[in-house]
Amino acid sequence: KLYNMVQDLKGNIRVYCRIRPSFSSESKNVIKFIGEDGSVVILDPAKPQKDGRKDFQFNRVFGPTSSQDEVFKDTQPLIRSVMDGYNVCIFAYGQTGSGKTHTMSGPSGGSTRDMGINYLALNDLFQMSNRRKDIIHYDIHVQMVEIYNEQVRDLLAEDSSTIRSCPTDNGLSIPDATMHSVNSTTDVLNLMKFGEMNRMVSSTAINNRSSRSHSVLTIHVHGKDTSGGTLRSCLHLVDLAGSERVDKSEVTGDRLKEAQYINKSLSCLGDVITALAQKNSHIPYRNSKLTLLLQGALGCGHAKTLMLAHVSPEEDSFNETISTLKFAQRVS
Ligand code: ADP
Ligand code: MG
Repeated sequence: KLYNMVQDLKGNIRVYCRIRPSFSSESKNVIKFIGEDGSVVILDPAKPQKDGRKDFQFNRVFGPTSSQDEVFKDTQPLIRSVMDGYNVCIFAYGQTGSGKTHTMSGPSGGSTRDMGINYLALNDLFQMSNRRKDIIHYDIHVQMVEIYNEQVRDLLAEDSSTIRSCPTDNGLSIPDATMHSVNSTTDVLNLMKFGEMNRMVSSTAINNRSSRSHSVLTIHVHGKDTSGGTLRSCLHLVDLAGSERVDKSEVTGDRLKEAQYINKSLSCLGDVITALAQKNSHIPYRNSKLTLLLQGALGCGHAKTLMLAHVSPEEDSFNETISTLKFAQRVS
């Protein structure tokens, strides 16, 4: 049997928190305690004595010294369930500079050391596919898009122009975005380089646009077993736009419009995950492009979701850190 429908006792929505290392020796660290049970304690620098302590609880927490491999190890069972027919969404959430891209793609600069979840996941799926090759034949394809101001762009197309998107019934593919067959980690590295380049081209025109768009890498798995049974599933790996709040009195025009789009789509994502966790009958997928695109993989019977909340430890990020942890706690 291809489908392994054993109900996970923990439920299908998980939230992990990752705290990046501090880069400033002058700034105080607001993270006071990290527990192996997933607890995090923050201390408000303005109220160090009284009332300044805030406690949060997650399924896991990774401290500043945690490695890419440790984070991957705790994500691996979820990723592997894609090969058994589950649809999985993994989101990196947090303010700009908190380490989202580091977790998903790896360090900036394109070195192959400390590779992130995107690469490690594909590498692992190839290995699994190889181990199972006598019982199941797997085909793996990828798509990579960017959502900026509620417009979807294909990062793997030659011309990377804006694409039309009208989600299919099952929501398992991103309509009109090119599909690329991948057979090896070399294929994957090349595609990712191409996608990143496409993203950079636009960020020179609009300064640092990559932090203000969501990027979605979708891995499609198609399996056929020896008795003719098939399965189709997908894994969405999402590097979200920076969650920082922009001061409305300080920005205008395009910058304000961007901020409003980001605000809206991130709060829609929160609403969808919360509604799923509460098993509401109405799930508001239609309120943003992101949730609409991921609809088929978010919340139906065999779907699993992981939110990776990223925070910076420095004092000057205190307000954003609190707001990220609150968001993450709300969806857990
Ligand atoms: P974001 O994508 O959230 O804006 P980045 O991933 O670009 O943040 O991280 C900001 C900077 O911090 C980058 O230079 C990145 O390499 C570094 N960084 C982030 N997380 C870690 C970590 N866990 N260990 C080491 N460096 C990190
Ligand atoms: Mg980033």
